[in-house]
Amino acid sequence: MELTFLGSGNAFASGGRYWSSFLIDRKYQFDAPPTLLPHLKKLGVPLPDLEVIFITHHHGDHFMGLPFLLLEYIYLTPRTKDLFIVGPPGVEAWTEDFAERCYPNITRDAGYRRRYVEARPGEEQKAGPLTFRAVPMNHVKESMEAFGYSVQVDGKTIAYTGDTMFCEEIFELAEGADILVADSTYSEGSGPEHMGLDDIRVIRQRLSPRTTMILTHLNGDPNTNGLENVVTASDLATFHFD
Ligand SMILES: [Zn+2]
Ligand SMILES: [Zn+2]
Repeated sequence: MELTFLGSGNAFASGGRYWSSFLIDRKYQFDAPPTLLPHLKKLGVPLPDLEVIFITHHHGDHFMGLPFLLLEYIYLTPRTKDLFIVGPPGVEAWTEDFAERCYPNITRDAGYRRRYVEARPGEEQKAGPLTFRAVPMNHVKESMEAFGYSVQVDGKTIAYTGDTMFCEEIFELAEGADILVADSTYSEGSGPEHMGLDDIRVIRQRLSPRTTMILTHLNGDPNTNGLENVVTASDLATFHFD
Protein backbone atom coordinates (compact mmCIF):
# COMPACT_ATOMS: atom_id res chain seq x y z
CA MET A 1 0.00 0.00 0.00
CA GLU A 2 1.23 3.44 -0.94
CA LEU A 3 0.24 6.57 0.98
CA THR A 4 1.18 9.95 -0.53
CA PHE A 5 0.69 13.29 1.16
CA LEU A 6 -0.34 16.08 -1.21
CA GLY A 7 0.17 18.61 1.55
CA SER A 8 0.90 18.46 5.27
CA GLY A 9 0.07 21.91 6.61
CA ASN A 10 -2.67 23.60 8.61
CA ALA A 11 -5.29 26.08 7.32
CA PHE A 12 -2.71 28.90 7.41
CA ALA A 13 -0.21 27.01 5.24
CA SER A 14 2.28 27.66 8.06
CA GLY A 15 5.92 27.42 7.04
CA GLY A 16 4.84 27.26 3.38
CA ARG A 17 3.41 23.77 3.79
CA TYR A 18 0.45 23.05 1.52
CA TRP A 19 -2.91 22.19 3.08
CA SER A 20 -2.97 18.67 4.45
CA SER A 21 -4.47 15.79 2.48
CA PHE A 22 -3.33 12.37 1.28
CA LEU A 23 -3.92 9.77 -1.39
CA ILE A 24 -3.81 5.99 -1.05
CA ASP A 25 -2.84 3.72 -3.93
CA ARG A 26 -3.41 6.66 -6.30
CA LYS A 27 -7.16 6.02 -6.12
CA TYR A 28 -8.49 6.97 -2.71
CA GLN A 29 -8.25 10.59 -1.63
CA PHE A 30 -8.59 11.83 1.95
CA ASP A 31 -9.76 15.45 2.08
CA ALA A 32 -9.74 17.82 -0.89
CA PRO A 33 -7.93 21.10 -0.23
CA PRO A 34 -7.87 23.91 -2.82
CA THR A 35 -4.58 22.52 -4.21
CA LEU A 36 -6.00 19.05 -4.89
CA LEU A 37 -5.93 19.28 -8.68
CA PRO A 38 -2.42 20.76 -9.16
CA HIS A 39 -0.97 18.21 -6.76
CA LEU A 40 -2.67 15.24 -8.40
CA LYS A 41 -1.32 16.46 -11.73
CA LYS A 42 2.16 17.03 -10.32
CA LEU A 43 2.13 13.43 -9.02
CA GLY A 44 0.99 12.12 -12.40
CA VAL A 45 -2.12 10.50 -10.92
CA PRO A 46 -4.48 9.31 -13.69
CA LEU A 47 -7.50 11.45 -12.82
CA PRO A 48 -10.18 9.03 -14.10
CA ASP A 49 -8.78 6.44 -11.65
CA LEU A 50 -9.81 8.45 -8.58
CA GLU A 51 -12.52 6.33 -7.05
CA VAL A 52 -13.39 7.56 -3.58
CA ILE A 53 -12.89 10.93 -1.89
CA PHE A 54 -13.38 11.19 1.87
CA ILE A 55 -14.26 14.65 3.22
CA THR A 56 -13.83 14.93 7.00
CA HIS A 57 -15.60 18.31 7.43
CA HIS A 58 -16.49 21.47 5.58
CA HIS A 59 -13.65 23.79 6.44
CA GLY A 60 -12.14 25.26 3.28
CA ASP A 61 -8.79 23.50 3.60
CA HIS A 62 -10.63 20.15 3.46
CA PHE A 63 -13.13 20.42 0.62
CA MET A 64 -12.56 23.47 -1.59
CA GLY A 65 -10.60 21.51 -4.19
CA LEU A 66 -13.64 19.57 -5.39
CA PRO A 67 -15.00 22.16 -7.89
CA PHE A 68 -11.71 22.14 -9.84
CA LEU A 69 -11.92 18.37 -10.15
CA LEU A 70 -15.50 18.59 -11.46
CA LEU A 71 -14.35 21.25 -13.92
CA GLU A 72 -11.50 19.00 -15.08
CA TYR A 73 -13.89 16.10 -15.68
CA ILE A 74 -16.13 18.28 -17.86
CA TYR A 75 -13.51 19.92 -20.06
CA LEU A 76 -10.19 18.07 -20.08
CA THR A 77 -10.28 14.57 -18.63
CA PRO A 78 -13.47 12.62 -19.29
CA ARG A 79 -14.41 9.87 -16.90
CA THR A 80 -17.15 7.27 -16.99
CA LYS A 81 -16.65 5.43 -13.69
CA ASP A 82 -18.71 6.47 -10.67
CA LEU A 83 -16.96 8.87 -8.30
CA PHE A 84 -17.80 8.25 -4.64
CA ILE A 85 -17.70 11.23 -2.28
CA VAL A 86 -18.01 10.45 1.42
CA GLY A 87 -18.70 13.23 3.90
CA PRO A 88 -20.76 14.58 6.78
CA PRO A 89 -24.57 14.60 6.39
CA GLY A 90 -25.40 17.20 3.73
CA VAL A 91 -22.21 16.52 1.74
CA GLU A 92 -24.10 16.33 -1.55
CA ALA A 93 -25.73 19.77 -1.23
CA TRP A 94 -22.50 21.28 0.12
CA THR A 95 -20.44 19.99 -2.79
CA GLU A 96 -22.90 20.58 -5.62
CA ASP A 97 -23.97 24.08 -4.43
CA PHE A 98 -20.41 25.21 -3.82
CA ALA A 99 -19.24 23.90 -7.20
CA GLU A 100 -22.09 25.76 -8.94
CA ARG A 101 -21.07 29.01 -7.22
CA CYS A 102 -17.47 28.55 -8.36
CA TYR A 103 -18.31 27.71 -11.97
CA PRO A 104 -22.01 27.86 -12.95
CA ASN A 105 -23.31 24.74 -14.67
CA ILE A 106 -20.36 22.47 -13.82
CA THR A 107 -22.58 20.00 -12.03
CA ARG A 108 -24.32 19.12 -15.31
CA ASP A 109 -24.11 15.60 -16.69
CA ALA A 110 -20.53 14.87 -17.69
CA GLY A 111 -20.83 11.16 -18.45
CA TYR A 112 -20.19 9.85 -14.96
CA ARG A 113 -22.11 9.72 -11.69
CA ARG A 114 -21.12 11.37 -8.42
CA ARG A 115 -22.35 9.07 -5.69
CA TYR A 116 -22.49 10.65 -2.27
CA VAL A 117 -22.24 8.65 0.93
CA GLU A 118 -23.13 10.33 4.22
CA ALA A 119 -21.21 9.34 7.33
CA ARG A 120 -23.33 7.19 9.63
CA PRO A 121 -21.44 6.49 12.84
CA GLY A 122 -22.00 3.14 14.49
CA GLU A 123 -22.23 1.03 11.35
CA GLU A 124 -19.92 -0.39 8.74
CA GLN A 125 -20.39 1.44 5.44
CA LYS A 126 -19.39 0.99 1.80
CA ALA A 127 -18.11 3.49 -0.76
CA GLY A 128 -17.29 1.86 -4.08
CA PRO A 129 -14.86 -0.98 -3.35
CA LEU A 130 -14.05 0.25 0.17
CA THR A 131 -15.46 -0.65 3.56
CA PHE A 132 -15.18 2.02 6.24
CA ARG A 133 -16.37 3.31 9.59
CA ALA A 134 -17.04 6.98 10.40
CA VAL A 135 -16.44 8.24 13.95
CA PRO A 136 -17.51 11.73 15.11
CA MET A 137 -14.52 13.83 16.14
CA ASN A 138 -14.30 16.85 18.41
CA HIS A 139 -13.30 19.82 16.25
CA VAL A 140 -15.60 22.87 16.05
CA LYS A 141 -18.72 21.21 17.41
CA GLU A 142 -20.74 24.43 17.67
CA SER A 143 -20.45 25.18 13.93
CA MET A 144 -20.14 21.89 12.02
CA GLU A 145 -19.81 18.14 12.22
CA ALA A 146 -16.39 16.56 11.71
CA PHE A 147 -15.64 12.87 11.21
CA GLY A 148 -12.67 10.59 11.36
CA TYR A 149 -12.63 7.59 9.03
CA SER A 150 -11.26 4.08 9.43
CA VAL A 151 -10.90 2.51 6.00
CA GLN A 152 -9.81 -0.92 4.82
CA VAL A 153 -7.52 -0.86 1.79
CA ASP A 154 -5.36 -3.73 0.49
CA GLY A 155 -5.73 -5.70 3.72
CA LYS A 156 -4.61 -2.72 5.80
CA THR A 157 -6.69 -0.48 8.03
CA ILE A 158 -6.00 3.23 7.78
CA ALA A 159 -7.54 5.55 10.35
CA TYR A 160 -7.62 9.30 9.78
CA THR A 161 -8.69 11.82 12.41
CA GLY A 162 -9.21 14.80 10.11
CA ASP A 163 -9.21 17.89 12.34
CA THR A 164 -9.89 17.23 16.01
CA MET A 165 -8.99 18.01 19.56
CA PHE A 166 -7.95 15.13 21.77
CA CYS A 167 -11.00 12.98 22.56
CA GLU A 168 -11.77 9.40 23.58
CA GLU A 169 -13.32 8.77 20.15
CA ILE A 170 -9.80 8.74 18.68
CA PHE A 171 -9.24 5.36 20.34
CA GLU A 172 -12.49 4.01 18.91
CA LEU A 173 -11.33 5.26 15.50
CA ALA A 174 -7.85 3.75 15.83
CA GLU A 175 -9.08 0.33 17.00
CA GLY A 176 -7.30 -2.28 14.88
CA ALA A 177 -5.61 0.35 12.68
CA ASP A 178 -2.27 -0.34 11.04
CA ILE A 179 -1.83 3.38 10.41
CA LEU A 180 -3.28 6.40 12.19
CA VAL A 181 -2.95 9.70 10.34
CA ALA A 182 -3.46 12.31 13.04
CA ASP A 183 -4.06 16.04 13.32
CA SER A 184 -0.93 17.37 15.02
CA THR A 185 -1.40 21.07 14.35
CA TYR A 186 0.64 22.28 17.31
CA SER A 187 4.24 21.18 16.93
CA GLU A 188 4.75 21.92 20.62
CA GLY A 189 2.31 21.58 23.50
CA SER A 190 -1.37 21.83 22.64
CA GLY A 191 -4.00 24.44 21.70
CA PRO A 192 -7.61 25.03 20.67
CA GLU A 193 -9.67 22.97 18.17
CA HIS A 194 -6.75 20.71 17.17
CA MET A 195 -4.24 18.34 18.70
CA GLY A 196 -0.61 19.05 19.47
CA LEU A 197 2.49 17.06 20.27
CA ASP A 198 1.44 16.71 23.94
CA ASP A 199 -1.73 14.93 22.79
CA ILE A 200 0.25 12.76 20.37
CA ARG A 201 2.44 11.56 23.28
CA VAL A 202 -0.66 10.50 25.24
CA ILE A 203 -2.18 8.74 22.21
CA ARG A 204 1.11 6.96 21.45
CA GLN A 205 1.21 5.53 24.97
CA ARG A 206 -2.33 4.20 24.78
CA LEU A 207 -2.34 2.88 21.19
CA SER A 208 -1.12 -0.52 20.15
CA PRO A 209 2.65 -0.18 19.50
CA ARG A 210 2.11 -1.75 16.06
CA THR A 211 -0.03 1.18 14.86
CA THR A 212 2.16 3.59 12.90
CA MET A 213 1.26 7.20 13.61
CA ILE A 214 1.71 9.84 10.91
CA LEU A 215 1.49 13.46 12.02
CA THR A 216 -0.03 16.04 9.68
CA HIS A 217 -1.93 19.39 9.49
CA LEU A 218 1.25 20.87 10.97
CA ASN A 219 2.14 24.42 11.98
CA GLY A 220 5.84 23.56 12.13
CA ASP A 221 8.27 20.68 12.53
CA PRO A 222 7.44 18.56 15.57
CA ASN A 223 10.32 16.93 17.43
CA THR A 224 9.30 13.27 17.61
CA ASN A 225 12.48 12.04 19.32
CA GLY A 226 11.60 9.37 21.86
CA LEU A 227 8.29 8.55 20.20
CA GLU A 228 8.25 5.01 18.78
CA ASN A 229 6.65 4.38 15.40
CA VAL A 230 5.69 8.02 14.82
CA VAL A 231 6.59 9.76 11.56
CA THR A 232 5.92 13.26 10.28
CA ALA A 233 4.22 14.02 6.97
CA SER A 234 5.71 16.39 4.45
CA ASP A 235 4.42 17.78 1.16
CA LEU A 236 4.44 15.16 -1.65
CA ALA A 237 6.08 12.52 0.59
CA THR A 238 5.18 8.88 -0.06
CA PHE A 239 5.13 6.13 2.58
CA HIS A 240 5.04 2.42 1.69
CA PHE A 241 3.44 -0.27 3.85
CA ASP A 242 3.67 -4.00 3.13
ZN1 LIG B 1 -7.98 21.94 8.64
ZN1 LIG C 1 -11.06 22.25 10.40
